[in-house]
Amino acid sequence: QFQSMSNTAKGTPKWWDVIVAPILIDGETEKVQRIISVSRDITDFKDAMLKVEESEKRYDNLINFSSSAIGILLGEDLVVTTANNAIIEIWGKGKEIMGKKYFEALPELAEQGYREVFAEVYKTGKPFNALETPVNILQNGKMELKYYNFLLQAQRNIYADIEGVGIIATEVTSQAIVNLKIKASEEKFRLLVLQAPVAICVLRGENYIIEVINQSMIEIWDRTMEQALNKPAFDVLPELKEQGFKELLDNVYKTGERFVAQELPIQLRRKGKLESAFVKFVYEPLREGDGTISGVMALAHEITEQVLSRKKIEESESHFRQLADLMPSKISNAGIDGKGFYFNKNWLDFLGLDFEEVKDFGYHKIMHPDELEEFQKRFLHATETGDDLEMEMRFKNKEGEFKWHLNIASPVKDENGNIKMWVGSTTEIQKIKEEEQRKGDFIKMVSHELKTPVTSIKGYVQLLLMMLEDVHEKPDPLQLKTSLVRIDRQVAKLTRLIIEMLDLTRIEESKLAMQKKLFNLNDMVTETVVDFSHGNLKHTINVYHDYVCNITGDKDRIEQVLINFIANAIKYSPNNGNIEVRVKASKNNQVAVSVKDNGIGIDAKDHQKIFERFYRVSGKSEQYYPGFGIGLFIANAIIESQDGFITIDSEKGKGSVFTFTLPCT
Ligand code: ADP
Repeated sequence: QFQSMSNTAKGTPKWWDVIVAPILIDGETEKVQRIISVSRDITDFKDAMLKVEESEKRYDNLINFSSSAIGILLGEDLVVTTANNAIIEIWGKGKEIMGKKYFEALPELAEQGYREVFAEVYKTGKPFNALETPVNILQNGKMELKYYNFLLQAQRNIYADIEGVGIIATEVTSQAIVNLKIKASEEKFRLLVLQAPVAICVLRGENYIIEVINQSMIEIWDRTMEQALNKPAFDVLPELKEQGFKELLDNVYKTGERFVAQELPIQLRRKGKLESAFVKFVYEPLREGDGTISGVMALAHEITEQVLSRKKIEESESHFRQLADLMPSKISNAGIDGKGFYFNKNWLDFLGLDFEEVKDFGYHKIMHPDELEEFQKRFLHATETGDDLEMEMRFKNKEGEFKWHLNIASPVKDENGNIKMWVGSTTEIQKIKEEEQRKGDFIKMVSHELKTPVTSIKGYVQLLLMMLEDVHEKPDPLQLKTSLVRIDRQVAKLTRLIIEMLDLTRIEESKLAMQKKLFNLNDMVTETVVDFSHGNLKHTINVYHDYVCNITGDKDRIEQVLINFIANAIKYSPNNGNIEVRVKASKNNQVAVSVKDNGIGIDAKDHQKIFERFYRVSGKSEQYYPGFGIGLFIANAIIESQDGFITIDSEKGKGSVFTFTLPCT
């Protein structure tokens, strides 16, 4: 029997199964009668066989040349029946392993618990997949730890019965080590975040899932770890979404540009209600290996307390500044060296400079040179003793004029008693100083004015005594009278002086008593002028009554004012004897009485000042006129107490008009 091949007419091969059998002659064993040949066309069978062979070869090749390690273990004992070079190498026991029971050949795997794993696959048919799994294998006598991805799959026969377990494995040691390192560093990072003193969270993906968050951040948010971890950030903090934080994060996520906020006010729901807080924070984009952004890391530091206390300080500082600016005094702050670092508005206005200009400005530049040395001496003393420095001194204003001030510098000390700065309070006393000066002049003048009549009275009294002492001669009545009249005039002068001085003290103490009586103003004016005309030959006084009216008030006091006006008009117009007194109507049912002279006149700058106590115009021409500078001060006080006012119209060298206006009755 044999198989042979022939070609058909078409040239395709045909296979035959040929049986050639001898037919023996009956009874004979070696005598062939005939030969029978039976041929069967087995081309199809042959083709099928070839295909199976090919497929098996392909299968073998596939297994042998696969870069994956492949092995097949058959039967319940898992006998190694198929294994490619790659798996033989992994097993590390050489080709001798073929035909052996798997766990007898590789007991180290049994120790690592794989017997149960294989048994399970064999029993249930469920594949077992392992990724980057560490396995210890005794390879060529040495125990090696390597990492494998492997798949265990049940092997079934054509009837689907499980008859073994197939292994496909790939060694991934280097990749696994890299991944382990990444994991370790991620873990390190996580620990770092958790322990960091600054609040940190990692928000992953477009929904900003809170992947990592530390205790500090949890405290700022006032949520629990469970509420926050692995949840979308804006589900946890819906209040921040409304405040534009989503847009901020989106922008970082999209552009990759970090966002830094130094002092951002935010509203956080804490203890059940919205609370204002201030935070300093950074949104840092997180990138993958390929550069794509996969999340945002937020680092935050709550600075609410600092901001609030700073704001409080700023507020109180601004209050203090407002207060200091409203003070009529000049307030300053200086360092221990005396260099100023704060000047209130009053100071700056006085100097006509802004702070930047003043701060580098030495004190000596605004102090009067006469007081500089004394000031430096006292400052040194104050520094040594820690006492206040108090000194009356002059400072130069923006017009370049020196004005008197009371300058008090008080040291501010630290807890050890060392001076840390100076607070200066400087009050202008120019007016007081001027008045002091005028007071001095006034006293000099009063003494002089008192001395003259007293000397004169003394002279007449002595003369009279002499006349009376002579017993032989009868005193001449005319001579007696002349002396007594002179004494009377001097006494009247003294009396006026004393009355004026009394009035002055009364005004100072607001005790000027006033009568309230109805009288005719025109009559009073006429009487006064007549009295004046009697004793005065040098001046002509003309009276004009343009308006007639009654007044309710203190007649004597109002008369005193008119006398003062006329007396001044006479005194200050020595060369022109015409004086005009006029009564005329004024608006709102008022009456005005004016006294006009053609005398020396008054400069506009003195119009206000002449009503001040002791003020006298200090020109060359004025110094020859006697006076105390209190007449107009008293006149003004009287008229104001009668609900009236005084006006003045005058120019230097062109005469003056003094008018008092009072309400008519
Ligand atoms: P005195 O005793 O100095 O006259 P007054 O208070 O009456 O005091 O006047 C104040 C100052 O006003 C005078 O010193 C003088 O300089 C000025 N004065 C007052 N009246 C006149 C006037 N009619 N003409 C010029 N100057 C006058």
